[in-house]
Amino acid sequence: MKNLQYLGEIADNLGKEYFNSVCNSRQFPEDLWNSLGRQKLFGLLVSKGNGGDGIELSDFVELVLEFSKQFGTFGYLFIAQNLSAKMFSDFGNEKLRAFLPDLISGRTRINLALTELESGSDAFSIKTKASREGDNFIISGKKHYVTNARNADLLMLVARTSFHQEKQSSGLTTFVTTKEQYEPSDFINLEKMGLDFLPIYSLQVNAVNVPRDMILGEVDEAWKMLSNTFVLDRILLAAMFIGMGEMALGIAVQYAKERKVFGKAISSHQGIQFPIAESYSFLQAAKSHVRSVSKIWDDGLIKSNRDAPWTAYYTSIKAAYDAIDCSLQTFGAYGYVSSTVEKLFRDIRYYRIGPISEQIALSNIAEKTLGMRE
Ligand SMILES: Cc1cc2nc3c(=O)[nH]c(=O)nc-3n(C[C@H](O)[C@H](O)[C@H](O)COP(=O)(O)OP(=O)(O)OC[C@H]3O[C@@H](n4cnc5c(N)ncnc54)[C@H](O)[C@@H]3O)c2cc1C
Repeated sequence: MKNLQYLGEIADNLGKEYFNSVCNSRQFPEDLWNSLGRQKLFGLLVSKGNGGDGIELSDFVELVLEFSKQFGTFGYLFIAQNLSAKMFSDFGNEKLRAFLPDLISGRTRINLALTELESGSDAFSIKTKASREGDNFIISGKKHYVTNARNADLLMLVARTSFHQEKQSSGLTTFVTTKEQYEPSDFINLEKMGLDFLPIYSLQVNAVNVPRDMILGEVDEAWKMLSNTFVLDRILLAAMFIGMGEMALGIAVQYAKERKVFGKAISSHQGIQFPIAESYSFLQAAKSHVRSVSKIWDDGLIKSNRDAPWTAYYTSIKAAYDAIDCSLQTFGAYGYVSSTVEKLFRDIRYYRIGPISEQIALSNIAEKTLGMRE
């Protein structure tokens, strides 16, 4: 598979320490981004007719598994840009599809601004409002926790366009805004625990004027498009978690064989071996599940297996969190000071909260599949 080969070459060029050193510098991984863009690896899910590769989800999952084993949480960038390009391809009008070549090559960077300070898990309660003025919409409100907002060329800004829909999920619209539409003072950088390579911001949206033809998807029906994309996101992030877990276990095994305590390698103790072997087993089980869920998607069977992306997300985050914790324990103090495993640990902790929390994943399974609703 040519894309796997490209990824292998990029990984060889950037070396095994790349993730750790970029995070230490608290910079965006520009070299990696540019290498992916040069190989058009941001258009994997975009149809061939729109200039992409049009690969199946299960093939993309294999790429994410490999990618994240070497580049850890940078997998998020790989996934998010690919999914954004897919949305432009599937739901964009002619004007928006004209952005595709630059999205696919990575020259244009894009992020999603959905969450607000008082509206996270309950996305339907957002207050940012878009009012119609002729052919344009004027948007005002405040977004919170927007990844890389200040450095993005485009933002997909979700706002409420209608307050009186029967269904709560209706009435939201996705607007594509450009960085020129904001002032530097609109962004406030938020200090955080992990993901050192990627800043997050709060964003003041001050009467931003957006023409109707910069709407992605349909007016009032953003949720149909976003929920579809979020399903893919859950499956792909699950693959990333597994890659991160395997990365952490790989370096733990190596360290355990080298580290001598009381005169022998710590790898000779079952107290070190068994937790690693156990974590490995759970990661393998989660990996098989993610692979089968991606196949379910490719076979067009996701509607009759609605809990599959949730179970994939939940089992993978659990397996990866435990694997990274186990790796940290194996490293002892060396894992707690600035190191690859310490970064993976801080990063994976976020994914138990967002983009969807463990509780929301479980409540979907409990209520929608198991019927445990009041
Ligand atoms: C590093 C980072 C990057 C982010 N990037 C982006 C981005 O690029 N764009 C964007 O739009 N957003 C972004 N977010 C926001 C993220 O998607 C939200 O944090 C997430 O959706 C959770 O929302 P919340 O933090 O408001 O938690 P809340 O919704 O306030 O929930 C608080 C707690 O209550 C629990 N809870 C809520 N409802 C229930 C329930 N029914 N049953 C049981 N438990 C419940 C939750 O699971 C959670 O543990 C980012 C956040 C972070 C920290």
